[in-house]
Amino acid sequence: MKLKEMNIILVRKIKHYSKNIFKIMSLLILAAVIILTIISIKRKSVYKVFISGEFVGYVQDKDDFNTKINNEILTPKESNIAFISVTAMPEYQHKFVDKDEETSEDLIYAKLEEQAVPTYRVYAINFEGETKAKVDTFEEAETLVNEIKAEYGNDTDLGINEIYTNNLEEATSIEFAQAKSEVQVTLEEKAQEVKKIESSTYKGVYFAVKPVSGNITSRFGSRSSPGGIGSTNHKGIDIAAPNGTTIVAAADGTVTYSGWMSGYGNLIILKHANGVETYYGHCSKLYVSVGTKVSAGTKIAAVGSTGNSTGNHLHFEIRGNGSQVNPQKYVYK
Ligand SMILES: [Zn+2]
Repeated sequence: MKLKEMNIILVRKIKHYSKNIFKIMSLLILAAVIILTIISIKRKSVYKVFISGEFVGYVQDKDDFNTKINNEILTPKESNIAFISVTAMPEYQHKFVDKDEETSEDLIYAKLEEQAVPTYRVYAINFEGETKAKVDTFEEAETLVNEIKAEYGNDTDLGINEIYTNNLEEATSIEFAQAKSEVQVTLEEKAQEVKKIESSTYKGVYFAVKPVSGNITSRFGSRSSPGGIGSTNHKGIDIAAPNGTTIVAAADGTVTYSGWMSGYGNLIILKHANGVETYYGHCSKLYVSVGTKVSAGTKIAAVGSTGNSTGNHLHFEIRGNGSQVNPQKYVYK
């Protein structure tokens, strides 16, 4: 056969097959249309929803549903909520179901809402490292700190701490004005305390406690000699208390004398900072020995009536570089 004849036969064959392929394709398309028509009459397109792998129902439209979740469940409505999280977001699977099958958006929504966990964010205002108030926004916190510093000085020890928590109680914030007034109250209290310490401090020694509680029966300075046995220029104060009442150190210090001394009877002398000393006289018992370090409030002796004394009392002196000062300027004010 010649090449030309062979070509003619091939072209005829291709034409024949093309006709058949076209027929088959048309049939397939027709079948698909019929199937889709049946599906669209009896079935509908939905999304099967799973939460943490568990089937929870169907939704009509996954994009609409996701938008609703984002806008309504996951969007914080209160200013102290930083964000809201759910244990697991829904997963979707496209599906044709029977037209009568109902979707359950509301139920799935409720399930998600139930497991939504808000994370709160508040700003704590700290004074000397301790939280004094909490506000909702950083701006409020910053304004508050700046206003307080303008009023009380730039070196006021104030700080801002951002707190994230799931605990609503921990996230309880207050209005700006209230927060400011609470910080102010703290600062006023602190100022009072400083003032109190300052007024109870002599040469840098803070007299934190009274050595005994009781009535002052004799003050510092001139007096008529009690019963002819006490001095006429009284160099301390006398505090009456029953025999055996505990006497404590008035300030931190070291015992430099513990024993009998003429006039004072049983006596404790404490040495404090900067040449300051305290004397505790007429004791019935002495509890500490020379060299012992004591703190304000440490038990050192018991009230008695030893030495030149007419009754149970503590004779208390404060000395600065050896000379007595009026103890009532610092304690028993
Ligand atoms: Zn006295």
